[in-house]
Amino acid sequence: MRIILIGPPGVGKGTQSTRLVKHLDIPHLSTGDMLRRAFQDNSEVGRASQEYMSAGKLVPDPIILKLVDQRLEHDDCRRGYLLDGFPRTLGQAQALDAFLAERGTPLNAVVELKVDHDELVKRLAGRGRQDDRPEIVSERLQQYARQTSPLVEYYRKQGLLVVVDGIGTQDEVFHRIQAALARIAQKQRDSA
Ligand code: AMP
Repeated sequence: MRIILIGPPGVGKGTQSTRLVKHLDIPHLSTGDMLRRAFQDNSEVGRASQEYMSAGKLVPDPIILKLVDQRLEHDDCRRGYLLDGFPRTLGQAQALDAFLAERGTPLNAVVELKVDHDELVKRLAGRGRQDDRPEIVSERLQQYARQTSPLVEYYRKQGLLVVVDGIGTQDEVFHRIQAALARIAQKQRDSA
């Protein structure tokens, strides 16, 4: 399965992605993780991205697209993958669509994880990541609202979107995601 997990920072994408990829036995492609690794390795991509990341801004599309394109060419992606934190802009989504169309490997589902604003801020305050300082968190939430949330409509129009309530225990949310994926798979079979 080729799946996107979409949602604001703090919604639980990381936690749920980890569980989902284990369950589905597919690679977990987190652009945030890739960028943090690139920074630790002191690679060109890492150095170019650092100032954006530490300010809570989005890294420019060309850098991200190169990173993702390369990763998607790996053999382990043939059986599917979970994209976490990508795409984050309409430009990234369109570039991904073109990439997948060229290869005849369309997406199966886009899962939107949702929780209310106050809960997000509470969760982010408890994490202690470099970019989880209050002023940076607020910037990242704004970036999400402005640049990434339009993707929800984009994928809804493609019939790929499932919305999952992210409030509850990790188990509860995970079971909701599984049920949502089963629903969309059934819908796709019905319309085939
Ligand atoms: P994340 O771990 O997904 O919250 O990402 C951490 C930071 O990496 C973000 O605040 C951005 O600065 C950057 N980043 C990760 N993924 C992307 C992406 N798809 N497009 C642009 N910037 C990204």
